[in-house]
Amino acid sequence: MRSFFQRLKQGLARTHKGLTERIKETIGLAPKLDDELFADLESALIAADCGVDLAAEMTAAVRAACERDRVESSDAIVERLKTTMAGVLRGVTSDQGSTAARPRVTIFVGVNGSGKTTSIGKIGCHYARAGRRVLFAAADTFRAAAGEQLEIWAERAGAQLVKSASGGDPAAVAYDAVVAAKARGLDDVLIDTAGRLQNKANLMAELAKVRRSIDKARGDGAPPAQVLLVMDATTGQNGLVQAAEFTRAVGVDGIVLTKLDGTAKGGIVLAIAHRLKIPVLWVGVGETVDDLETFDPDEFVAALFD
Ligand code: GDP
Repeated sequence: MRSFFQRLKQGLARTHKGLTERIKETIGLAPKLDDELFADLESALIAADCGVDLAAEMTAAVRAACERDRVESSDAIVERLKTTMAGVLRGVTSDQGSTAARPRVTIFVGVNGSGKTTSIGKIGCHYARAGRRVLFAAADTFRAAAGEQLEIWAERAGAQLVKSASGGDPAAVAYDAVVAAKARGLDDVLIDTAGRLQNKANLMAELAKVRRSIDKARGDGAPPAQVLLVMDATTGQNGLVQAAEFTRAVGVDGIVLTKLDGTAKGGIVLAIAHRLKIPVLWVGVGETVDDLETFDPDEFVAALFD
């Protein structure tokens, strides 16, 4: 089977083509470090979904490095670009939440269809393989199918499941799940939440309520639950607006970026780091368990360029 790196590379093939090949074309073999060259680089970065501000910033950084080092080849320019990109990604520190917390509680938020349920399933499988005992909480009681889907993933991952009748109170499901995990001495609770309610204000208020009920179930002194925002990479810059809303409502500790195998442009990863200052923790490149991996900035940049 192909490695995750190869699948990530394939997922990013379109972006790679748009970025690397375009850059190589405009730079040519004997580049002239002039305005035209860097304007082209900037356009290529915008086209790759890096966002206008970041594209300008990175271009300026690459230009400064090229002029300082008096580079004379297209490869050398691309190297400066890679270093600049990796720097942007490493600028936001990431951790997976304290593993000392038991149970470690993770709330998954994000709009419908972003890949929350699937990502919980896959991450649960990863944890289970690492020997952790996992419980899923089906707190998306708004959509009956979400509970059924989570149940299938729980079987696959060998995870326990807490759910309620459809239409039940999500905060109560989350509360019960945390209490059950404490009583059973489990390592991880992964909580699925609704991605759509009657309106956005309702959704955000409900997520905040879920968060409070988890804190209550955990008791005083326990480290707070971590919130992961699941984002569909193909939504591009629109996704950033959604992310800002979730951040305001419940705080977001990390991003799970799904569907990098589709029509997504890889620059969105850089835009997230730059605009939201939230680390990308996991990236998804397909629908099976092995299509989700922890995010590695250097691996990502290599997949984009090599
Ligand atoms: P939710 O509404 O946020 O819970 O989203 P789901 O988990 O139900 O996912 C919506 C759809 O996206 C499903 O068909 C998933 O199989 C699919 N999906 C999730 N992650 C990925 C991914 O990384 N790549 C691709 N191609 N599809 C994905």
